[in-house]
Amino acid sequence: MKALTRSEFDALLGAVARAIGTQTRPVAVPGEAILGIEAVARCCAGPGRRFLNLVTGPYGLDFGRWLRGCGAEVMDLKFPYDEAADPAAVERAAAEFQPDALSYVYAEAVTGGANPAEALQEVARRHGMLTIVDAVSSVGADPFAMDDWGVDVAAVGMQKALLGSNGISFLGVSLRAMEWMRANPDAPRHSVLSVPELFDQQAREVPAHISVLEARCAADALEEIEALGGVDALVRRQREMASLVRREARAMGYSLFQKREEDCTNLNTALARPRTPAAAAFRGEGIVSPGSFGLEDALLRVNHYGAGCTYSAVEDALRVLKRLT
Ligand SMILES: *Cc1c(COP(=O)(O)O)cnc(C)c1O
Repeated sequence: MKALTRSEFDALLGAVARAIGTQTRPVAVPGEAILGIEAVARCCAGPGRRFLNLVTGPYGLDFGRWLRGCGAEVMDLKFPYDEAADPAAVERAAAEFQPDALSYVYAEAVTGGANPAEALQEVARRHGMLTIVDAVSSVGADPFAMDDWGVDVAAVGMQKALLGSNGISFLGVSLRAMEWMRANPDAPRHSVLSVPELFDQQAREVPAHISVLEARCAADALEEIEALGGVDALVRRQREMASLVRREARAMGYSLFQKREEDCTNLNTALARPRTPAAAAFRGEGIVSPGSFGLEDALLRVNHYGAGCTYSAVEDALRVLKRLT
């Protein structure tokens, strides 16, 4: 396979920028999304820097640990995993703690929840906080508009709603966030975890450490999405599948794991795990899986995203759910 040309690489970054709604050139990360998220933590955090970190699931918890491990002052604001973050509580914590930045996970594939990102961005704007958003599970499933909402850092993967694979990922980074990373004396240097170095290198050349296969796979997926009508069309399709699954599952007697339906992501659906012998013995089938990260007994997940975002996958899933009641 031939190396990526400059114009192919630019087209890929342009498609990512359109998918997340930013005018700033995104950064390609040579690895799965979690690598980009760790890079962001290491480039932003350091002694004297304060973060208000929302915890609504395991990814938020890990992000706080990384920030703290880099010497930052971190206030973890925790919410029960079956509830979204409450903007009023975030506002109070911001007023009290005076953080430089707010970090949160938008959609939590693990809990089926989604945080009220637009309202959180409003709070951040009022308190002058930079915002760092794990949008890996969100882009393509829930509405997202990086520049319009004033998001400073957005972590994006291809493997959830964006029809791609997980060997490449992307970061949307605002100019002020890039400057904040450059000004951090404790940020990694001469490292693939240096976001400013990745950004600068990618302005000069097509980076050799990016897998050609992964980059082509991402470009193909984004092209397919644009042919479908763009990310907005994908979000509509996700919403349609989510409401179908919720309606049918409830008719069978299931309840949503999230307390409030408006706190659910369109990416997938988390259902309270029924107390039946069939459900107790269940280990996963098709797009239906048990919970993960300690939520194995609490819930079942219907992963109606990516290749699973079709009527036939959802119909198979509904048959599995019926069997477990
Ligand atoms: C899936 C996911 C990730 C990371 O995915 P990897 O496959 O481990 O790179 C990060 N954050 C959230 C919220 C996710 O759902």
